[in-house]
Amino acid sequence: CFCQLYGEVDDCSCKVDTVDYFNNYKIHPRLVELLEKNFFRFYKVNLHRECPFWPDDGQCAFKDCSVHSCTPDELPKGFKPENKYSEEAQQSDSGACESKTNEEIQLGALDTSLSEESKEAFKSWKRHDDDQFSFCEMDDEFSTQMEYVDLLINPERYTGYKGASPRRVWNSIYNENCFKPDPDTREYEALLTTSNVKGSDYLTGMCLEKRVFYRMISGLHASINIHLAAKYLIPDAWGGTKWGININEFQSRFDPKSTNGEGPQWLRNLYFTYLVELRAITKIAPLLEKENFYTGDKGADFEVKVMISELLSTMKEFPTPFNESKMFQGDKNQALQLKEEFRSHFRNISRIMDCVGCDKCKLWGKLQTQGMGTALKILFSGNIYDTVTGEPAFSLRRTEIVSLFNAFGRLSNSIKLLEEIRNMTKR
Ligand code: FAD
Repeated sequence: CFCQLYGEVDDCSCKVDTVDYFNNYKIHPRLVELLEKNFFRFYKVNLHRECPFWPDDGQCAFKDCSVHSCTPDELPKGFKPENKYSEEAQQSDSGACESKTNEEIQLGALDTSLSEESKEAFKSWKRHDDDQFSFCEMDDEFSTQMEYVDLLINPERYTGYKGASPRRVWNSIYNENCFKPDPDTREYEALLTTSNVKGSDYLTGMCLEKRVFYRMISGLHASINIHLAAKYLIPDAWGGTKWGININEFQSRFDPKSTNGEGPQWLRNLYFTYLVELRAITKIAPLLEKENFYTGDKGADFEVKVMISELLSTMKEFPTPFNESKMFQGDKNQALQLKEEFRSHFRNISRIMDCVGCDKCKLWGKLQTQGMGTALKILFSGNIYDTVTGEPAFSLRRTEIVSLFNAFGRLSNSIKLLEEIRNMTKR
């Protein structure tokens, strides 16, 4: 099968089949169980923000595009609107936060290790940090349009969203927000004389940072398209339909014959994106181990804590798969400028998600770009502990943790699905 990849993942020192083994047998099963837990399955999102770039394309009319948002009754105790972070919950915070307010729970999921004195300073610093280091334009947590969505009952799958609207979104992402090769390079000149330029041709002559940017977007795109081909309405044995893998749909999207030779490279980009997000999670592991994963149910929260700890230990067995310290090096001013461009391009992509014309696709698009933005924030905000005070150097909101793990879960699922597809094509 063309989807059997070989050799090393580009820009990483790691073989594709190592990722396959490690993901499919060690990480994926744990992740699936974890993401079913209340802390991770309820995602707060605003699906009603206006598209900032062009007039609304209109909503997708297909029923599979609709999203069912939660009523307060369907939410765990800790997420109900009237919840005031009960006494019970404060005790579960190992006494670290005696007067935690609802706002603090929402704003600082990783701040439980802070001393009382630095809490106020940290809160204002945190807001500053959110603006300074964030790679995503976040929804306003306090907007009345925010709603909780249960990700398990709104799964990412084929919705029928196609045509001009998604084409415009992907075009805008690749053509206006991904980097182009540096015009000073010889490769760029060669590119100008090439007819039939492919997306990956742009990678030649590009610096590592710009390649990383393109590969991450392409990896996300590949993952979305794998899911829609693998969760497709197909005929069942009784004359009805069921959700399952549509091999033809998968082939038309990734076979080199139908993709100008690019499909396998897009799949490789999926592995790359997986390794970047894996690295971000292992980097933040010491803070995650102190997190309480508050949902208002002590027993369930503790269970998640244990599951996270086991998952992180498994992840740490994997040798550093992606080395972010090679990025934004060289001349300091140039490196800073490039980092700022990288950040602003990515922020733009997170805003483009409000232009997706199918609510279900928008939900998963927003969640996955936010997860990716969180990974970038973790990788490029320096040390996780302040080297002078020893305090955490930045914090993550609950929504960032939820999106990071769910985004990584999607990539992990895509890699597992590729194995199933390979097995199907062998039969
Ligand atoms: P598209 O996937 O729209 O791709 C457009 C062009 O981009 C292709 O012609 C190709 O040249 C290039 N391209 C394709 N893949 C890659 C890649 N991996 N890397 C680099 N370049 C590539 N549909 C659903 O059914 N369910 C969903 O959940 C869903 N979520 C979506 C989320 C977002 C954010 C967007 C923008 C779209 C989503 N869609 C979803 C739509 C889906 O991604 C396709 O756009 C749609 O099925 C039409 O596919 P297409 O064949 O026209 O090619």
